[in-house]
Amino acid sequence: MSTTADVSQDLLPEVSEFLSASLQKAFVNGAWVEASGGQTFDVVDPGRGAKIATVAALQKADVDAAVDAAANAFEGSGWAKMPVAERSAALHRIADAVEARKVAFSQIEALDCGKIYEQAEADVQNFIDTFRYFANLAQQVNYRSVIGVQGHEAWVARHPWGPCGFIIPWNFPFLLAGWGLAPALAAGNTCVLKPAEDTPLSALYLCKIVQELDLLPAGVLNVTTGLGEEAGAAVSSNPKFRRMSFTGSPEVGRLVAESCGRNLIPVKCELGGKGAAVVFEDVDIESTAEKLVGAITFHTGQVCCDATRWLIHKDIYDKFVGECVERMKAVNIGYQMDSAAQMGPVVNPTQRDRVLGYLEKGVAAGAELVLEGGAAEVAGCGGYYVKPALMAGSLDNVAAREEIFGPVAYLAPFATEEEGIRLANDTDYGLGNSVWSSDLVRCARVAEAFESGNGWINAHNVVVHGVPYAGIGKSGMGGGVVSPETLNDYLRPISCVRPL
Ligand code: NAD
Repeated sequence: MSTTADVSQDLLPEVSEFLSASLQKAFVNGAWVEASGGQTFDVVDPGRGAKIATVAALQKADVDAAVDAAANAFEGSGWAKMPVAERSAALHRIADAVEARKVAFSQIEALDCGKIYEQAEADVQNFIDTFRYFANLAQQVNYRSVIGVQGHEAWVARHPWGPCGFIIPWNFPFLLAGWGLAPALAAGNTCVLKPAEDTPLSALYLCKIVQELDLLPAGVLNVTTGLGEEAGAAVSSNPKFRRMSFTGSPEVGRLVAESCGRNLIPVKCELGGKGAAVVFEDVDIESTAEKLVGAITFHTGQVCCDATRWLIHKDIYDKFVGECVERMKAVNIGYQMDSAAQMGPVVNPTQRDRVLGYLEKGVAAGAELVLEGGAAEVAGCGGYYVKPALMAGSLDNVAAREEIFGPVAYLAPFATEEEGIRLANDTDYGLGNSVWSSDLVRCARVAEAFESGNGWINAHNVVVHGVPYAGIGKSGMGGGVVSPETLNDYLRPISCVRPL
């Protein structure tokens, strides 16, 4: 395993200027606001462990004011009543504005969450694609569908709901902001977004561009920066929302769902995962090993739908594991802005300790360390680096059952198709599993037999606009993202009926 620390990319002047602000304020009702009591929190570059911003930590009253702004904008700004074509054009203008500043957004995102620059760029492109996808889809929706029933004139009309809340995590800050905001805005709703405290900067840069170019009426998009227990809890408990969306851990998801339940606000939760890859004996061993190693080291394993349990047919187990070990040893760990780096840091010291802690707990419970892992140093960087690791043993092990959220995969052999499916499904989570085989009939059978929201074939982490993406069990509830169903979730149906 090698490490590298060259910074081969200079920051754009506009990024340096954005980061030079003494305080990054929240964006409420089209204006920049501080916390009412002046509270702030620091944001750190995970690759260097150095502070890059001080951000307003909004309190409950501040968040409530943002929700009021969103409610007023829904009623009074004209956004909700605007012809669909005009609203879609506004979403396209946002996509165009982000595209024109793609490098700036990517630099901010990479610095803020420690993501390898190319991966940050792909996330920014995904945001652009999401806005365009929902802008186009909104023009194809039937906003008034007639129902043919005997003795009655009947139809269903679809309108936006009102203010919608979004609480998102730190692993894909800008991409997930797009997945939440684009369908809600395309349907005519107004939004309050609470970014994670580790990674609020790309959402604030979006607000800066929206304000400068006058891309949305005031109050349609509000970003309430702050800590989870304060600003997050204030979002999830506000009774004026009409829809809520939470992406993050199952533990916090439960709290948000409880709050929404008390207010009878529909909530969708996109939560954690413990995905399996079921690898059959007829695969191309080298290319499959390459892809799974690529998946578990992508964004340093901080991916909810990752393949973290690798179930490998017993006939190829030893050779397959050997190939994986060699590839993982060769991964170049480095600063996220270094073009030679393949795997960057984890997001914060807590996350690093969590990954290292699971290696310890797993071994204490009997797992074998096939590839040791552990903390990594990158010369000249004081950031939070870990090495990729492979564990093996009983699938009852704590490291095989709980979400680690790092570059750690747990290995186990299986003998028959039934056993492979059973082991993959033996988890509380249900987000994304994959099957790997050259027998495509078997692949289709196994993919359908997974008890998860997504069954992928000869690939992992496959999320495509237009295909519903959601989790079941401890991985989520209440509907998914990036599909026509998502847009529908942001439209309130009303049945209108007249007896003839
Ligand atoms: P987290 O649950 O700790 O935090 C998520 C968000 O909730 C943050 O904005 C945080 O400030 C806020 N929050 C914290 N406490 C809160 C409270 N009491 N009330 C309201 N909001 C509160 O999650 P994380 O550590 O930021 O992200 C990692 C988790 O997210 C992992 O479990 C991962 O699998 C999951 N995730 C899921 C998906 C998906 O699509 N299913 C996508 C990305 C991440």
